[in-house]
Amino acid sequence: MPQFDNPAADSSRMFSLVIYPLAAPLHLPSQKPTFNMPDSQATGPHFSAPVLAAVVGVAIPTYLLLKRVFRRHIVFTSTVLADIPTLGRPAAHKKHGTVIICGGSFAGLLTARVCADHFERVIIVEPEAWALSDEAVIGPVESGVREVVKDGLSYNTYTHKRARIPQYTSIHGYQALVMEVLPQLFPNIRERARERKIPTAASDMHLFLNGRLLRYPYEEVAKSGKPAPENIFCSRRALESLIRSLVKEHAPNVEYVNGTVADLKLDEKRGTIRAASVRLLGEEAHTKEIACDMLVDCTGNTQAGLKWLARVLPAAAAERLANIRQEYDPNINYSTMEWPAPPRFDENLRKIDAGFRISADGSPQRVDLAKEAWFFGYGPTAASGDFRMIFGGRRENGGIVFAGGGWDSDLPVTSEQLRVFAQAMKQDRPVPKYFFDIMDLLEEVDDKAVCYEAKIRSCSRVLYETVGDVLPSNFVALGDATMRLNPRAGEGVTKCSMGVTTLDGVLRRHARGPQDAKFGATFFKLLASRTQGVWDGARLADYGYDTTTPVKGETHKTGGFIRWYTSVIARVAERDRAVGWTLWNSAMFLAPGLDILAPSIVFKVLWEAVFPTKVSPTAPYLL
Ligand SMILES: Cc1cc2nc3c(=O)[nH]c(=O)nc-3n(C[C@H](O)[C@H](O)[C@H](O)COP(=O)(O)OP(=O)(O)OC[C@H]3O[C@@H](n4cnc5c(N)ncnc54)[C@H](O)[C@@H]3O)c2cc1C
Repeated sequence: MPQFDNPAADSSRMFSLVIYPLAAPLHLPSQKPTFNMPDSQATGPHFSAPVLAAVVGVAIPTYLLLKRVFRRHIVFTSTVLADIPTLGRPAAHKKHGTVIICGGSFAGLLTARVCADHFERVIIVEPEAWALSDEAVIGPVESGVREVVKDGLSYNTYTHKRARIPQYTSIHGYQALVMEVLPQLFPNIRERARERKIPTAASDMHLFLNGRLLRYPYEEVAKSGKPAPENIFCSRRALESLIRSLVKEHAPNVEYVNGTVADLKLDEKRGTIRAASVRLLGEEAHTKEIACDMLVDCTGNTQAGLKWLARVLPAAAAERLANIRQEYDPNINYSTMEWPAPPRFDENLRKIDAGFRISADGSPQRVDLAKEAWFFGYGPTAASGDFRMIFGGRRENGGIVFAGGGWDSDLPVTSEQLRVFAQAMKQDRPVPKYFFDIMDLLEEVDDKAVCYEAKIRSCSRVLYETVGDVLPSNFVALGDATMRLNPRAGEGVTKCSMGVTTLDGVLRRHARGPQDAKFGATFFKLLASRTQGVWDGARLADYGYDTTTPVKGETHKTGGFIRWYTSVIARVAERDRAVGWTLWNSAMFLAPGLDILAPSIVFKVLWEAVFPTKVSPTAPYLL
C-alpha cells in the first residue's frame, strides 16, 4: 500500500509538514531535543549576541529583498506599469517585415502606433471606408440628427457613418491608466486635445459606490511627489478621431487599406501565418493576398481571429479553439444624453453647492463645479439592492453628457425621465442635490438634447492563453477581439491600452519578435494575467443581479465573496484614507488589484463587517 493511501495519515502528515516550519521558530527557545545529547547542550540552544546579530543581519535584508522581488513580480504580471516607461520609443533594431492589423478602431490604431516602432511596414485593414477618410480624422464625426419615437415620446439621436460601431455615440469614460499610456505614444496629446477643445484634467470622477465616496486622493498624490493622474474627457467619437490624427502624425508610414480580412494563409512547414486574404472594397473590389510577418486581430466584437484560425488550423487544434470562448448576458441598458453648454454655464455652476473635498495641501476646499471636468458617477454595489446608476460630466466643445441605466433597467430618454430615474435610486446616500441643480441649468438647452439608447446582451472573453501551443506564433489579438466587457465601468479603452502596452513589452523582450516560436503564447499568457482581473471584476459584479445569465458552468453564486468584499471595502474606503488611496489606484489600473487584499486592509474590512459604520447623511464630500 502506498504510504499516503490512508487519508487521515495523509492529512495529519500534511498538517505537520505545513505547520512545523511555521511554528518551529516560535518554539525554538523552549524546545526539548528528542535525541541524545550531552547534558550541557540538552537545556536548549544558546545563541550568542554575534550569532543573533548575524541572523538578523541576513534575515531582514533577505526578507526585504524577497518582498521587493515579489512586489515587482505582482506588478509585472497583473499591471502594465512596468512596460510603460519604454512605450513609444523606437526600437534600436527594427524587426524586418510587415504587420497586418485587422481593424482600424482604438485597438487597431494604437497597435499600429506601437508596431511602427518595431516593424518596417505596418498595414491597417479596415472595412469602413469612412473610418479611413479625412472627415474621420478632422471631423465632424456626426452627420446629423434623426427623430426617434418611443412610447409616445420623441427624442433626437445622432446619425453617423461608423456603421460597425453601435456604441459610437454612447457615453465613454476612461481610467487614469489611459492617460499614462497615450502620452507615451503621443507626447503632444494634451496640446492636440486642447486644439480640439477636449479637456484633460485630474482623473477625479466623483465616484460614489453605493452612495459612498471614492475620493480622488489629492493630498496623497501631492505627498507621493509623482505627477497627478489625469484623464481625458470626451466622447468616444472625439477620442477616436483624435487618436486617428495622432497616429497619422506620429506614425506617418502606416498604410491604410479599405477591405475586410477574410482568411489567413499558413506557412504549412512552420505553422506561422504567411499572408492575409483581404477582400478589397471600393472601386478596386477584389480579393488579394497580403504577405505578413505578424497579424494582429483588432476586429472588436467580431472576434474574427477565432473564426479564421478555426478554418486554417489542423482539426485537433480547431477543436480546442471551439471551447475557448466564454460568454454571458449582463442584460444591461443605459441611455446617453448630451447637451451643448447653456449660456453662462460655468458662472452658474460656480454657484452650486457641491460640498467640500480634501485638497492637495490637506485643507478643506470647496468643490467648484466650474472647474470640474467630470461631475459624478453613482452606482450600486452588491449591498445596495438597487440596479440603477447615473454618471456624467463634460465632453469636447464644452458639451455635457449624462447617462442613466442599469441591469435590466428602464431607459430614461428625456431630462424629466432622467430626474425621476435618479430620484428613485436607493443607495446608502441619495443622489447629491447638485446633480438636480445641474439638470436645472440644462433646461435652457433641453430642446437641443440628443439621446442614445444602448442595450448590451453579450460579454465575452476568448481564452487564447489556453491554446498558445497550437496557435501560429505570429498571431496576436487585443482589444474587444479578446474580451468584450460590460461597458458600464468604461474599461474598453483601458483594456486596449493594456493590450498594446503588453505587446510593446513582449516585442522588446523577444529579439526575434514573432519569428520566435513562443512569441504569441508569451503575449497571450501575459495579457491574460494582466487583464483577467478586469474580466473577473465586471463579470462577477454582474452575477449579483438575477437578470444576468452567467457563463456556462457558472452560477449567480460564483464570485459571492468578491461581491461582498467590494461592497464592504467601499464603506471603509470612504472614511479610511489609506484604504481609499489603495482602492482608487486599483480602480484606475495604477496598482495591482490584489493590493486591496493586503492583510491590513482585510482586517479593516472584517472590522467594518462586524462593526458597520453609520452613513453620515451630510457633506459626503468631506468625511
Ligand atoms: C454601449 C457601450 C458603451 C461603452 N462605453 C465605454 C466607455 O465608457 N469607456 C470605454 O473605455 N469603453 C467603452 N465601451 C467599449 C469600447 O467602445 C470598446 O472596448 C472599444 O471600441 C474596443 O475597441 P476595438 O478597437 O477593440 O474594437 P472596435 O471599436 O469594435 O473596432 C473594431 C474594428 O474592426 C473592424 N473590423 C471588423 N471586422 C473586420 C475584418 N474582418 N477585417 C478588418 N477589420 C474588421 C471594424 O470595422 C472596426 O473598425 C463601450 C461599449 C459599448 C457597447
